[in-house]
Amino acid sequence: MTANLLEFDLEGLAAFCAGLGEKRFRATQLFRWIHQCGVDDFENMSDLAKSLRQKLQLHAHVAALPILSQQMSADGCIKWLFDVGAGDAIETVFIPEDDRGTLCISSQAGCAVGCRFCATGHQGFSRNLSTGEILAQLWFTEHFLRKHFQREERVISNVVMMGMGEPLQNYSALLPALKTMLDDHAYGLSRRRVTVSTSGVLPMITRLAQDCPVALAVSLHAPNDNLRDNLVPLNRKYPLAALLSECTAYLKHAPRDFITFEYCMLEGVNDQPEQAQELIDLIRLHAKNGLRCKFNLIPFNPFAESGLRRSADEQVQKFARLLQGAGIVTTVRKTRGDDIAAACGQLAGDVQDRTRVAQRVAAQRAEPIHWMAPTPQGAGADRSVTADPKP
Ligand code: SAH
Ligand code: SF4
Repeated sequence: MTANLLEFDLEGLAAFCAGLGEKRFRATQLFRWIHQCGVDDFENMSDLAKSLRQKLQLHAHVAALPILSQQMSADGCIKWLFDVGAGDAIETVFIPEDDRGTLCISSQAGCAVGCRFCATGHQGFSRNLSTGEILAQLWFTEHFLRKHFQREERVISNVVMMGMGEPLQNYSALLPALKTMLDDHAYGLSRRRVTVSTSGVLPMITRLAQDCPVALAVSLHAPNDNLRDNLVPLNRKYPLAALLSECTAYLKHAPRDFITFEYCMLEGVNDQPEQAQELIDLIRLHAKNGLRCKFNLIPFNPFAESGLRRSADEQVQKFARLLQGAGIVTTVRKTRGDDIAAACGQLAGDVQDRTRVAQRVAAQRAEPIHWMAPTPQGAGADRSVTADPKP
């Protein structure tokens, strides 16, 4: 078995090269050939000594992921389905905009969090992706797109860890991948242009702040614990008050001076004016301790089994205006690539559920969703209170 060099950040590659009796600058050259030039054949790495090229042929390879399909949407988004073996497939999406090209990357085959409104969550969980499988998505698409658009310079300017999976539940593989995205000898992306999106794995937010503080997006989706427990099951472990305190602490390290909160707009579930008010109260409470944030409202992208509906546009706008009126910067996300099911939460790949997450999510789906009117104590108050059913 030879080593897949996509598994290494520069430090890892230097250690691998040291094992071959090679100096560190050779690792840097090799790293540049692979990530900056997209070369996977050691023979073509012309400034490497012949002896090194021979050693690499014996001990190493660069493993692209087999492509199962590639689809282009009417608005220019491209979605790839990659085979990661044993019946699992993951998805990656390129989203072109006037001033940037964003790649949405998967971190796991499936997801164990099981959010109620997410197609990935409904599929269950198979396994974590390795660093090489995370990076292969960027490595392949960047060099494919350069050829496709006949560009010499970089096409992908931003990366968002918003594909399939919960990146902070795969931290050890994520970290070297992030470091490679930022490395000037590889993709050279600034920390502001790499975003980790999480449903709120609190201890790993703390670790990320120390190890590699990139831009942070937190999927909030509810203004109180009762509703969030139901929509994002991880909330039962890491409730809102603790999550928002952690977000405040992250700001000391963050490359931007705000956290982005994502809020998926679900008709009759979390989109009422009372809930906007409850959200405003919650944010104000934490703003006193230094929390600065922006909201990104995501119109729900429906999929067959969810049993949920997208909020009407007017409802989304009204919710946005209420937050804006309270001084909270709020945008509504444009839905992109939905004709090829490449929009947020529609990425489902093809995953073998090996941990019965799908079964748990199906059982949870049978529970009605209730929403809570604000309690006098504010959000995060007595969580054992029974929710008032929405009339
Ligand atoms: N696991 C991470 C990142 C992947 S999900 C997280 O939850 O943040 C990326 C974003 O898509 C999250 O904000 C998620 O809440 C949102 N999302 C999931 N399903 C969706 C759907 N059906 N419609 C709209 N957004 C959805
Ligand atoms: Fe997992 Fe994120 Fe989907 Fe929740 S929204 S199930 S955390 S991928």
